[in-house]
Amino acid sequence: MMYLGVIGDPRKRSLSPVFQQAAISALGLDITYERWATPPEGLATRVASLRAPHVLGANVTIPHKQAVIPMLDELDSLPQRVGAVNTIVNREGRLHGYNTDVEGFRRGLRDDAGFDPEGKRAVIAGAGGAARAVVVALAEARARSVVIINRTFTRAARLAEEMTPLAGETELHALPDIYLSWTDSLSRADLLVNCTPTGQASAGPSADEEEDSPVPFDAIRPGLLVYDLVYIPAETPLMKAAKAAGARVLGGLPMLIYQGAASLKLWTGREAPVDIMLKAAREALGLETG
Ligand code: NAP
Repeated sequence: MMYLGVIGDPRKRSLSPVFQQAAISALGLDITYERWATPPEGLATRVASLRAPHVLGANVTIPHKQAVIPMLDELDSLPQRVGAVNTIVNREGRLHGYNTDVEGFRRGLRDDAGFDPEGKRAVIAGAGGAARAVVVALAEARARSVVIINRTFTRAARLAEEMTPLAGETELHALPDIYLSWTDSLSRADLLVNCTPTGQASAGPSADEEEDSPVPFDAIRPGLLVYDLVYIPAETPLMKAAKAAGARVLGGLPMLIYQGAASLKLWTGREAPVDIMLKAAREALGLETG
């Protein structure tokens, strides 16, 4: 028996064990995928334990994606650019770091929304870890421009400045989180990506749905694709408002499944059965029965 697991915040639930184990069973592999709840002070010990011969590797999630980097032996070029690792592979006791969030985001856009970012204008809400992966994915796909709008403006400005040398032909801009920034940038945009947790079910719904959105609803216009990385609930207040405004929408669940599929391929070399993974995740979320 070999082992895999997800290293994350002990207070947060993760869907990865559910859909990864479903894929592993479907592929007939003798692997157990576990939840490895890890507080920050236990991270170094946890990462060291991945070097054991019966461990294939791990997923890494909030809040450890950056902190694991110095604990690894080799880093692929993508996590270096993103500044975050979400997948670790144990190769004979040496730990290799990868980032499959970029691939997950890109595949969601391509396969579930039929959207090619090349030459397009994008707006991103947020400037944290997910936003970093999205900026790299959009720049690699040769988007024309990416505007980053974040509650803390300095963080957006720093992200744009830091990523500009890596962004090729893609222009990066940071704007303050004020009404005019949204209306002006979204009037010209093709894609809006929510990279904040706003709208997440755990935050609890507020009486005013607009408060559960990082974007003022009246800035959303038809023709826009609104991609919300939040996956619980399946339809966030932002997605609901975008639909009502005549925009297309895409939720975060496909990205979650695709990043997991890319991780499973790194550990096992096998193509992951994404339909089975998606069904298992939807069942766990109560979106589908048996
Ligand atoms: P993070 O590094 O903590 O960054 C969070 C960002 O959201 C920051 O820019 C923060 O702004 C902003 N923010 C937080 N609360 C806000 C609020 N109430 N109003 C406005 N802005 C707010 O988190 P992350 O790793 O980037 O993750 C962000 C979200 O993406 C999470 O919900 C996560 O579950 C989701 N995600 C989904 C996938 C997927 O596969 N679907 C993958 C990765 C992440 P400040 O800078 O001002 O604090």
